[in-house]
Amino acid sequence: MRKPFVAGNWKMHGSKASIESLVKGLNEQANQVQNVDIAVCPPAIYIDFVQANLSADNIAVGAQNVAEEPVQGAFTGETSVEMAKDLNCAYIILGHSERRAIYGETDAQIAEKTKVVLEAGLTPILCVGETLDERESGVMEKVIADQLDAVIKVVGIDAFEKIVIAYEPVWAIGTGKTASPEQAQEVHAFIRDKLARLNRSIAEKVIIQYGGSVKPDNAAELFAQADIDGGLIGGASLNADDFMAICKAA
Ligand code: PEP
Repeated sequence: MRKPFVAGNWKMHGSKASIESLVKGLNEQANQVQNVDIAVCPPAIYIDFVQANLSADNIAVGAQNVAEEPVQGAFTGETSVEMAKDLNCAYIILGHSERRAIYGETDAQIAEKTKVVLEAGLTPILCVGETLDERESGVMEKVIADQLDAVIKVVGIDAFEKIVIAYEPVWAIGTGKTASPEQAQEVHAFIRDKLARLNRSIAEKVIIQYGGSVKPDNAAELFAQADIDGGLIGGASLNADDFMAICKAA
């Protein structure tokens, strides 16, 4: 039995004032959610501020990205995994489609970052997913398999015991278009089957979140699918009531 995991990706949103009020809302409602792992991933610059304000002990904190270079050095603008660890982050989102599309991160770079995060003892939330073009031209499974294979090649299948996967169809992120529960389940089953061919027991244990316009009114149906183990939530994670409603649905 897998424990559902819901994580909020705040992206580049917020100010000290708005984050203070969001975290207050999370603190007030967190005890209403049981048997669900929860995390929030603020912008790096606010991680410490969130840690200082977060009193709910069932909500972990994560970062949205880290550098491939594990230690400090002359990498202007970057955050190392050791820095995220120093701020008590438990999770690092890697390979988000915005990192892939806007910042040109490649499968190989994301695999390297996965290795660095695992070596630091933190949990990567590895995002995979296809664009609408890729889905419509019939290469969806190949795209997702390639994204996973790049990581498997570098860290090995056994490392997936410590990796969370987030299936996020690019066409559903921030667009208000959600994959139907059946569409999402089909891809989640594909991912789990692919891993099962390499190691069945790890495949059965691996958490596969769904992400892409999850809202309080569609979360329960998505999370009821056999291979969907919670969600990676963008827009709706910026509102404490919505995020907590989604956590409760998991
Ligand atoms: C995301 O950014 O990971 C995401 C799923 O965004 P949204 O929920 O806004 O579609």
